[in-house]
Amino acid sequence: MGSAGYGVPTRPCQMDKLEKEAIMKQTKKAFDRCPICGGELVEKRVEKLLRGGVDTAVVKVHAEVCLHCGERLYSQETVRRFEEIRGKLERKDVANFQHIGQSFQVAVSC
Ligand SMILES: [Zn+2]
Repeated sequence: MGSAGYGVPTRPCQMDKLEKEAIMKQTKKAFDRCPICGGELVEKRVEKLLRGGVDTAVVKVHAEVCLHCGERLYSQETVRRFEEIRGKLERKDVANFQHIGQSFQVAVSC
């Protein structure tokens, strides 16, 4: 009697395929309403501050901004770019970034 007969049954990965299609649909149409408060969304060009290590980058991107609570929604592609830029900051791979000034840290106790 062998004990190695029972493994995890191998199932066709149809679930994976369906999930991927759902995500693609979602990114194509984004959101109609703010997922936080249900407010109206408008597409705006916004500045996003990204941090990698001790360095920061100001990134100008399009985002869906909620008129009610100010929540910003970014597309998957944009979020992927954010990760890329953070990685570059961490690696000091900033030759292609425009230098716009200095950043400071100020501790305020109140
Ligand atoms: Zn909102």
